[in-house]
Amino acid sequence: MTFEYSPAPESKSIVKIDKEYGHFINGKFVKGKNHFATINPATEEILSRVANGDRGDIDKAVAAAQIAYSKVWSKLSGAERGKYLYRIARILQERAREFAVLETLDNGKPIRETRDTDIPLVAAHFFYHAGWADKLDYVGLGKSPKSYGVVGQIIPWNFPLLMLAWKIAPALAAGNTVVLKPAETTPLTALLFAEVCQQAELPAGVVNIVTGAGETGAALVNHPGIAKIAFTGSTEVGKAIARAIADSKKVATLELGGKGANIVFEDAAIDQAVEGIVNGIFFNQGHVCCAGSRLLVQENIADEVVKKLQNRMEKIRVGDPMDKNTDLGAINSKAQLDKIKDLAAAGSKEGGEIWSPKCNLPQNGFWFAPTIFTGVTQAHRIAREEIFGPILSILTFRTPSEAIEKANNTPFGLSAGIWSEKGSKVLWAAGQLRAGVIWANTFNKFDPASPFGGYKESGWGREGGRHGLTGYLKAGK
Ligand code: ADP
Repeated sequence: MTFEYSPAPESKSIVKIDKEYGHFINGKFVKGKNHFATINPATEEILSRVANGDRGDIDKAVAAAQIAYSKVWSKLSGAERGKYLYRIARILQERAREFAVLETLDNGKPIRETRDTDIPLVAAHFFYHAGWADKLDYVGLGKSPKSYGVVGQIIPWNFPLLMLAWKIAPALAAGNTVVLKPAETTPLTALLFAEVCQQAELPAGVVNIVTGAGETGAALVNHPGIAKIAFTGSTEVGKAIARAIADSKKVATLELGGKGANIVFEDAAIDQAVEGIVNGIFFNQGHVCCAGSRLLVQENIADEVVKKLQNRMEKIRVGDPMDKNTDLGAINSKAQLDKIKDLAAAGSKEGGEIWSPKCNLPQNGFWFAPTIFTGVTQAHRIAREEIFGPILSILTFRTPSEAIEKANNTPFGLSAGIWSEKGSKVLWAAGQLRAGVIWANTFNKFDPASPFGGYKESGWGREGGRHGLTGYLKAGK
């Protein structure tokens, strides 16, 4: 028997979106220039217009952050900084629904995810780092480790507020001040966060937010007043940033792309693995750098796994992200949809077999049905390149060592999943995989205490946990 779901839309009335925004500099919203639209990718309706920051705006934001650093923030005790972070965390919890609705409108991801994953994790990051602020002597860098000064932070559009939290919470706990640039398609929750900074009475200039696109980000990277860059985004831009700072004293953490292998051994609990495969690739429309986008399944169970996966995919509900029953929302932008379509076409052209369940995609907005490709080989583009969309490439293997070889055969090294009922096999495989984050019999689990980051072209450094915090500090005595 199949149940029909009635519509269960979340109300938009809790959010108030201004027609136009400027930047947030020195504790105030200031006027910007050259505004551009940010749209709801599920409807293509314009939500607001945000300013395109130029070098002058970056100069002002960095100057405010420098003064806030030298006159206020670096003089406060860790315990005092911690109080501000706790205050921010509590306000984020109080305003959680507002943030969840705004994030879903601006990003296109389902309200169920913003409400249950993104925003709770955002608050958790601030709580976690609030606890560290007065304990930096125990971070592993000797007594009294030192902050860097002004940190430039550039974030992507896939988890807009969560990436902001991953960047701002540790930076502030460590005693730095920040200038942050949100992604051009998802700036609204960062601007609402600026209001939270005001509400928390965070000293002016400790957090500055300048909106804009790539050129604004490049101006921040190249600004001489920046001591450290923290970037999450594509490997291509990560490399450009590494080149830009190569002959400066700036340091960087880079969290870049991935092509995570999700390995299902013959002794796995298959129904559980199927849930993990679905979560690994269809969570957040596959706009996840650590997505399990390559399924490696042992050959003798491959048919069964694919059949069960197809059955499960028939039940994925694609559509209005504001509906509380939606599983898969809108693709974040037309540009991203075009990239996904291009790679899907390459998958078919190169010999992969494409399959998607029937779904009625809305007329307006940017949509892509959940999709799998079978018959994929390691040479195919869809097995090598990051798609950043709801497409799973399925490859098979015969022996455990072949699985490891295929899993590691990638320029990336961010995440991997292992599905097996044998603990010894899980531990063996985890030891062989060149990936920064490895999940066993689960996928996409995040916690502020757990460091996240990659090997090879997936980036430099870690974010989260004690390891992430060390990226914002210089060794003490
Ligand atoms: P994606 O492919 O996920 O959109 P990008 O790497 O293009 O990732 O974007 C991630 C962030 O980096 C965005 O905030 C974007 O505006 C910014 N960005 C893009 N190009 C540059 C650049 N040359 N220098 C600094 N930041 C950039």
